Amino acid sequence: MRVLLVEDDKPLGSAVCEGLADLGVRCEWVLDGEAAETALATDAAGIDAVVLDLGLPRRSGLEVLASVRSRGVVLPVLILTARDAAEDIVAALDAGADDYLVKPADLREIAARLRALVRRAAGRAAPRLAWRDIELEPSSRKVWKGGESIELSGREFEVAELLLRHTGVVLSRSQIEQRLYGWDGGAESNAVEVHIHHLRRKLGADFIRTLRGIGYMVERNG
Ligand code: CA
Repeated sequence: MRVLLVEDDKPLGSAVCEGLADLGVRCEWVLDGEAAETALATDAAGIDAVVLDLGLPRRSGLEVLASVRSRGVVLPVLILTARDAAEDIVAALDAGADDYLVKPADLREIAARLRALVRRAAGRAAPRLAWRDIELEPSSRKVWKGGESIELSGREFEVAELLLRHTGVVLSRSQIEQRLYGWDGGAESNAVEVHIHHLRRKLGADFIRTLRGIGYMVERNG
């Protein structure tokens, strides 16, 4: 999962990014409200959810929220703020936030709430993703095939999770790269092909379809 973190406190922002990365949540991090709006206007395709502070330079979290919701951005938004008054919580939820956490928040709780928001946004309630006899559990980062546990590398897990969250949708190599390596890039040119190759070897050749020149897809269930 990749989230946009909007946080002007640098030590906190870097601690949240590092901590979430260990829990399988990668961050793109911006430091003010204006940068958040720009990011959500241009690069939102690679983002699964937003973690938004309220007290921000240039534009407040509430202004960012109102603006992106008025433009029809449906991404889940989790407010992460020091403000704990009921009126702040009500105002944020009524402005289009999906969840609200008061700082200091436990990183495990932030990650768990993000998983819940992302699966709800995809219309799912079950915590595991399933395809035929393959099951994948984002919280534990475990995968099973036919009930047997399968070892995947971190990147392989991310590719499998991404494709399973978008069954029936073709994802191009560059879309997958952006999800894995972020806006700054850093992927080896054939990295995605290598991960796909390993996933097919471990989870079955029929798991991922290649649409030549277009991208990769896991068929819809059933
Ligand atoms: Ca702040």
